[in-house]
Amino acid sequence: MKQHYEQLKAAFRRDTGSRIDFLRNPAVYGTELYRLIESLPKGADLHAHADAILPMDLQVAFLADHPELVIRMDGPLPGLIRYRGDGPADFGFRTMKDLLEAGATVDDFRRVWTLLGAGADTYLWDWFEGIFTRCGSICASPALVEDYYIRVMRYYHGIGVEHLELRCPFFGTREDALARGKAFYRALETVRKTDPLFTLRIVACGGKNDLWDPQFDTLMDNALYVREQVKDEARGGSDLVVAIDIVNDEDRSYSLSRYEDRVRRIMAANPGLHLTLHAGESLRGENAEIAIALRCGIERLGHGFNLYRYPALQEEVLRKQICIEVCPISNRELGYCSDFSLHPANGYRKAGIPLVICSDDPAYQANSVLVGDYLAVAVGWDLSLDELGGLFRNSIAYSFLAPDDKARLLAWWEDAWKEAIR
Ligand SMILES: [Zn+2]
Repeated sequence: MKQHYEQLKAAFRRDTGSRIDFLRNPAVYGTELYRLIESLPKGADLHAHADAILPMDLQVAFLADHPELVIRMDGPLPGLIRYRGDGPADFGFRTMKDLLEAGATVDDFRRVWTLLGAGADTYLWDWFEGIFTRCGSICASPALVEDYYIRVMRYYHGIGVEHLELRCPFFGTREDALARGKAFYRALETVRKTDPLFTLRIVACGGKNDLWDPQFDTLMDNALYVREQVKDEARGGSDLVVAIDIVNDEDRSYSLSRYEDRVRRIMAANPGLHLTLHAGESLRGENAEIAIALRCGIERLGHGFNLYRYPALQEEVLRKQICIEVCPISNRELGYCSDFSLHPANGYRKAGIPLVICSDDPAYQANSVLVGDYLAVAVGWDLSLDELGGLFRNSIAYSFLAPDDKARLLAWWEDAWKEAIR
C-alpha cells in the first residue's frame, strides 16, 4: 500500500505538479491518487462553515427537492435564492426543478455559487461574501436545516469522516436559534440509524463585518442558550455547542480586539466551552490578530496563515502546542497561496506545531469536500502515507469532543487505518 501510494503521488507530482486548481481542473477528481485518498479513513473535519458544504451537484439536487426555495438567475444578483415557504414565488424566481427542465446545468450554478465566477479584477472576498448572500436562504427553515445536514453527514461518512465540527451562527431570536439547534440534532439522529458512530458538534460563530458585528451579543447569547438546551442524549448528554469563534474577512472587518473583553467574559462564565478563533488569514505583516487570539486563550487557531511573519508568536504557538486548522483549498481560492508546496503550514508542521487539515467552505471553493485538501498537502508537502495518517489522527485528537467520544472515535480510526494500509 505504501509503495502504491508513493507511486501515485510521484505520478501526480510529475503530471499536475503542486499548483492544483480544484475548481478549473476537474480532471483532478478522476486521478488514482484522489480516489485512493478518498477511500482512506480520515477521522474529522474540524473547520467547515454552515450551509457552505454540499458539493455543487448535491446542492443543485437539494434545491430540486425543495420547491419552497426559489432562485432568480437574472437581475443584479444572479443565483439569488429566496425562501417562499408555501407562498407564491416573487416575479423572476423559479424552482430548481423548473430551471433544470428549462435546460440549466450544474455548471451554470457553479458560475454563480463558487469562486469560479469571480472576475479577474474582482476583490475575491467581495465575490465570496456575495455567494453567502446569494445562498443565505438555503437553510431558512428547520426542515431545510435537517435535510441539508442529513445529506452533509452522509456525504462525510462516504469519504471516511465520522465527526464534523460545524462553524454556525445562530441568527434571529432565541426560539429561532433553538429550532435550528434541534434540527441539527434531529439530522444527527437520522444519520446514526445507519452510521451510529457519527458525531456532530457546533462551533458557534459571531462575526466581525458590518453585517454581523451589531448582532455579536445576540449571536453569543443564542449560542449559549442552544448549548444549555440541546444535548447529545445518545452520548451521555454531551454538549452540541462545544466552542465559539469569530469570523469574516480580517483585512476589512473589525479587529478581534473589539471582542476581546466579551470573549474573555464568556469563556470565564462557561466552564468547558472551547475557543478557536479565525486569525492570521491575511498576507499583511502589520496584522495583530494572532497575538490577540492568543491573549484570548485559544485552544486551536483558525488558519494562522501568516504566523510565519511573527517568530515570537510562532514560538508561543509551538510551546503551547496550539493546533492550527489549515484549509489549503480555501487559501488557494481566496488568493493567499497558489502553489501548495509553498504553503507556510508545512513549515509549522516541520517546526512541531500540530496541524489539522480542514475544508472551510467547500461548496463554494471546490467540487468535493476535504479529500482535495488532503491531496493538496500530500502532493505539495510530499507527505509519506504515515505523515498523512498522522494528520488524519490529529483531526480526532485535537477535536473538541468529550473524552469518551474522542476515545471511541480514535479506537475506530486506529482499527480502520490498520485495515486500510495493510
Ligand atoms: Zn473559516
